[in-house]
Amino acid sequence: MPARNPETPSGKISPVGLETSALERELAALGVPERQLRMRSSQIRHWLYVRGARDLAEMTDLPLALREVLGGRLTLERPTVVCEQCSADGTRKWLLQFADGQKVETVFIPEEDRGALCVSSQVGCTLSCRFCHTGTMPLVRNLSAAEILAQILVARDRLGEWPATRPGRRLTNVVLMGMGEPLFNYDNVLAALRVMVDPDGLGFSKRRVTVSTSGVVPKIDQLGRDLPVALAISLHAVRDELRDQLVPLNRKWNIASLLDACRRYPIRRRITFEYVMLRGVNDSDADARELVRLLHDIPAKVNLIPFNPWPGAPFECSSNNRIRAFAAIVEAGGIAAPIRTPRGRDILAACGQLRTEAERRRRTAAAAAA
Ligand code: SAH
Ligand code: SF4
Repeated sequence: MPARNPETPSGKISPVGLETSALERELAALGVPERQLRMRSSQIRHWLYVRGARDLAEMTDLPLALREVLGGRLTLERPTVVCEQCSADGTRKWLLQFADGQKVETVFIPEEDRGALCVSSQVGCTLSCRFCHTGTMPLVRNLSAAEILAQILVARDRLGEWPATRPGRRLTNVVLMGMGEPLFNYDNVLAALRVMVDPDGLGFSKRRVTVSTSGVVPKIDQLGRDLPVALAISLHAVRDELRDQLVPLNRKWNIASLLDACRRYPIRRRITFEYVMLRGVNDSDADARELVRLLHDIPAKVNLIPFNPWPGAPFECSSNNRIRAFAAIVEAGGIAAPIRTPRGRDILAACGQLRTEAERRRRTAAAAAA
């Protein structure tokens, strides 16, 4: 089913994320002659994704009369940036608010030669992994394709990276690792991914776009058929009894079935396995050895993520020595196991801390009133 962008209360829709055919249908409905559809839709897409237009008035190669007609149906409005925080290490976090008042966070993490934007796919998350702050948010809704892509557009606005073709861009990679489970919002995520990797869209290479999932097995297969971008799996445990506890989705698709899906996934590049280090829970030498055994026949890389504590979290982070010892065993088994340096800790931008400021404040106020 093709994804649809929702209408605003005034009956307008965002053209961002619409497939070319859907955009052309909209244009035809607005009276654009058949023979012009292809040209007009490609002009509009260029303005949206390469030039970063925020207003139809900028699209100066469209006749004024057409821009006026389009303005009755299309809106290019960005979500509001409610809050912008810059960390001492260059990490930047934006709290974005959509038309219905819902908010998500988007984080830009610069490195020397590249920069990744961590994009949210849902408001909150229906899964409730025990170590994850997002999973404790009460409100959940899917983001539309336009809302997923808008996070990239806003980041380019804020980083001053239009037109997107200019050399030396800092935003080079996108990871769907923010709030939400992307594969539980499959249609909208797929529509957004198509625009991300389209050379006439946002133009990211497929290798530089990563979907992170806690393990929705049938959708991993579907993604492999539809658009095999880079894949990250939130593994976090090597035994089902423990993973059932940490990542409740494991009760539906266990470790063996998840790893089978990884073996079927049609990319040659390595799959990243995320492993959050929880003191005394999943960080023993035996766990590390079992991880090596499980992954021995999968082209894999393991990202060891120091657990990021949040108020009331039932875990602590493993000690640095423990993490290093764990990494050494995995590396000795022939699997790269970088330890992720926490970034943007001073602005609470690290993974698993993506909850909206407003929600945080509401909770604090409620706690104070109790
Ligand atoms: N729902 C998807 C993508 C979003 S979660 C998924 O689970 O993969 C993105 C990553 O942040 C996951 O690897 C998740 O396990 C990790 N994460 C969540 N809470 C964390 C915490 N408190 N500390 C460190 N990493 C955390
Ligand atoms: Fe959802 Fe991912 Fe957090 Fe689990 S780790 S609750 S799947 S966002």
